[in-house]
Amino acid sequence: MKNDKAESEMKFKKEQFLNGIGVSSEIAIGTAHVIQSGLGQLPEYKIVENNIKNEQKRFRTAVSRAQKQISRLKAKTNKLSDATADELRLLLDAHTAMLTSKRMVIGIETVIEERRINAESAVQTVVHEIAKGFTQVKDPFLSARLQDITDVGSRILRQLMQAPYQAFSQIPEGSILISEELSPADTALIDPTKIAGFVTQQGGSESHTAIMARSMNLPAILGTQNLLTTIRSGQTLVVDGENGKIILDPTLETLNEYRRKIEARRRLNRQLARLRSLPALTQDKTRVSMQANIELARDIDGALNAGAEGIGLLRTEFMFLNRNSLPNEEEQYTLLKAIVEGMQGRPVTIRTFDLGGDKLPTLLDRKYSMSANPMLGLRAVRLSIKEQKLFEVQLTAILRASEYGPLKILLPMISSVEQIRQVKQILNRVIIKLKKRNPSLNLAMPPLGAMIEIPAAALIADSLAHEVDFFAIGTNDLTMYTLAIDRGDEQVANLFNPLHPAVLRLIQFTLEAARRNNKPASVCGEIAGDPRFAPLLIGLGVRELSMAWQSIPRVKQRIRALKTGPATRRAFAILDQTDEDKVAALLDDFNEDL
Ligand code: PEP
Ligand code: MG
Repeated sequence: MKNDKAESEMKFKKEQFLNGIGVSSEIAIGTAHVIQSGLGQLPEYKIVENNIKNEQKRFRTAVSRAQKQISRLKAKTNKLSDATADELRLLLDAHTAMLTSKRMVIGIETVIEERRINAESAVQTVVHEIAKGFTQVKDPFLSARLQDITDVGSRILRQLMQAPYQAFSQIPEGSILISEELSPADTALIDPTKIAGFVTQQGGSESHTAIMARSMNLPAILGTQNLLTTIRSGQTLVVDGENGKIILDPTLETLNEYRRKIEARRRLNRQLARLRSLPALTQDKTRVSMQANIELARDIDGALNAGAEGIGLLRTEFMFLNRNSLPNEEEQYTLLKAIVEGMQGRPVTIRTFDLGGDKLPTLLDRKYSMSANPMLGLRAVRLSIKEQKLFEVQLTAILRASEYGPLKILLPMISSVEQIRQVKQILNRVIIKLKKRNPSLNLAMPPLGAMIEIPAAALIADSLAHEVDFFAIGTNDLTMYTLAIDRGDEQVANLFNPLHPAVLRLIQFTLEAARRNNKPASVCGEIAGDPRFAPLLIGLGVRELSMAWQSIPRVKQRIRALKTGPATRRAFAILDQTDEDKVAALLDDFNEDL
């Protein structure tokens, strides 16, 4: 009876729609859980005199990041109606003014110095004092500023702590997380068996947050305008990750439609699972190796079940995130050994940490100031060469794990031959030290590879091929750096296009250099996991693909429908195009003809 009433209410309730960037093709139905600040327990501690300057610097960096965040939000107000935009801009201007006010900035720096306390405690103290002043005034305008002050305080605290959303474990099971932003580190904390999906206001389709969503098979939508002003905790939502559509308070009819879609997807997955033990063999018997990209050890079972022939990309940087100390050699070794053993003799390609950009561990974050363009800054191999001690620890752990199964070492963000030579010197030093430490170790230098993900690397692929044993083409960054489009910025997400002729030519250039030098080249960017791209990549000569394990069956199915001869002819016809739309149309025709 109660159910009948609820269902008839649903029938007549008005549903609302929001649109964003769908980043995984799954669908979720669940209850919204809005995360406001995400701040857990604030750290409070005393600092020594020598650390005062560092602590003040850390605070100033947090303020400048918070300012940048506000500017981005302000830029987005252009898309709103005039009245809403004006109101929001006034509010954001007020926040910027508070962030930069002497009372706040000098006040907090003075408290850090005089009381010798950490920046988080100082922010809390000063915000509290300013807020107290406001509560004593009876003016409604000023008392509204009280909320602004606390908001500004939370904004700085969030930047200071790079706070992961520690509250995830307390969120009711089956919830859909709603948040302004989720960093890749935050996303790594999500337990996909407990959370139904997530929707954020910021973030683009190829960000590491999006990649994490796909690798967890979690329905997710990023870059959703007006999200936080529209959705309330407790509302029922449908998250259609394929079409980037969010339906609030869906009618019974809509709910049933989506339930049918979920069931159809399950049926398809069951059918595809039958391909698990079949090889990715084209119609004319060309074999393609299907490998998995993984971030965490928990993906091993999924990768094996999906029939992965190895790990083509292990993003080790995730071992460094969401923690207050960096992982030591023993910890890294234990984790890597478990992954190598877990793959039961299949090769594991361990990419050395690609930290920096959108993934900087808290500890290093305090050491290096935030660059204006983190994606162009101290990232990946550049950071490894600068932080050699940290790098040596990782290399030692990798070399030790190599005793337990075949592994390769892959270097991210290579842009010069010199970088590889430097890494080789470091590697040799590490081997000598390890042998001294344990003379009975039977160590051999694992194959060393370079990610080709910067246009410079693609253009000098011939010289790089003399220095390394293999290439892995990272089309996510290659697209970003070729087109100068931030892969994580929803405002330019529509321009992010791996099918741009410039990107395709760089891929082909790299593949040709690899062929000339007899070096294998895989593709491990997100396009490797999109069946639409498979005919093109195979036609261009790619014989090794690495992708989120969830994509393996669908890509395999497409490969098994292909013939390499026609694929090569059509791939070269696509390469002749100068127009992005024409490229896309030709590729779609190609897929339809299969
Ligand atoms: C890439 O850039 O394409 C890649 C595979 O590496 P990541 O996505 O981790 O930057
Ligand atoms: Mg990359």
